[in-house]
Amino acid sequence: MKNDKVTGQGRKVVVVGAGSVGATYCYALAQSGLADEIFLIDRNEELVHGQVLDLVHGQPFFPTVIIGAGTEDDYSDAQLVVVTAGSAQRPGETRLQLLQKNAGIVGSIAESISRRGCQGVMLIVTNPVDVLTYVALKRSGWERSRVIGSGTVLDSARLRHLLGNHCGVDVHNVHAYILGEHGDSEFAAWSMTNVAGIKINDYCPICNKCSDWKAERGKIEQQVREAAYQIINAKGSTHFAVGMSLLKITASILRKQNSVLSVSVMLNGEFGLKDVCLSVPCVVSDGGIEKIISSPLDPEETVLLKRSAAVIKKAIDSLS
Ligand code: NAD
Repeated sequence: MKNDKVTGQGRKVVVVGAGSVGATYCYALAQSGLADEIFLIDRNEELVHGQVLDLVHGQPFFPTVIIGAGTEDDYSDAQLVVVTAGSAQRPGETRLQLLQKNAGIVGSIAESISRRGCQGVMLIVTNPVDVLTYVALKRSGWERSRVIGSGTVLDSARLRHLLGNHCGVDVHNVHAYILGEHGDSEFAAWSMTNVAGIKINDYCPICNKCSDWKAERGKIEQQVREAAYQIINAKGSTHFAVGMSLLKITASILRKQNSVLSVSVMLNGEFGLKDVCLSVPCVVSDGGIEKIISSPLDPEETVLLKRSAAVIKKAIDSLS
């Protein structure tokens, strides 16, 4: 299905993968007024047809936005291409086989985006997101600033939610980051965590909600790590909060907001790490990564970041 469309009009976002994550993101994006044009691509054309129809029927209630089924030609003038396309794990399939399959899918999408001369930003969402951001970067041949992974933006939001609840404080007054892999080796950067500008350890006596903060924070960190498993067990997939995380990254790119977000980026010596993509705090703007904030972490956190990098590197090396 191909809608009549007017392209080159402004902020154009192409979403590859019309499944739960891609469609939820499109829905949030359409409501936000951030984009002028949204095009959805999937190898399942019937699915795209259905998602586009369902979305355009909301047009009377959205800010003005063009929504349609796209083709690979739409990459050429997109400001942002969001890649959520991938295969789900099949019965009997190993994680490594799934990784190989998704690396093939995301790699060929990245090549296609690059071949069409897109000057925008590529945002990888498909899991394992850090490994696939690396694959997309290599296959596109682009500079590292323009190929980013959604990384731990979602995990950081989960941490902020849990801390806000624990401390009885509005989540907007909690600043906190999960760094490293978007996966089991991720960790909370407690040295960067603050409530209303007060370092979390100094806020503890003011909060006075628990008797053993170190034990409590360990539990909170574990809850963040297990959140995706919990949601997938209960409802099959996660899509609302990831959709909102993608919207936050999108706003920073399309509106040049310079938000500090824990996106996945290729490191080139920062934090003593090289040739690996993982999440660290970055200033995100219209060109993608404006700056990597490589301020020193606690020694313990530095060890955890290196450990996480080693996990991702092992997965990258496993790709044939
Ligand atoms: P889904 O199965 O609902 O959707 C994936 C879509 O990709 C399907 O519609 C499929 O047809 C399409 N697709 C597969 N190969 C394609 C190709 N070559 N070209 C175009 N389309 C193709 O899955 P979902 O729940 O939407 O999740 C998508 C991805 O996002 C998964 O890898 C998931 O693990 C990941 N995810 C990432 C985060 C994060 O924070 N990074 C959070 C949630 C989910």
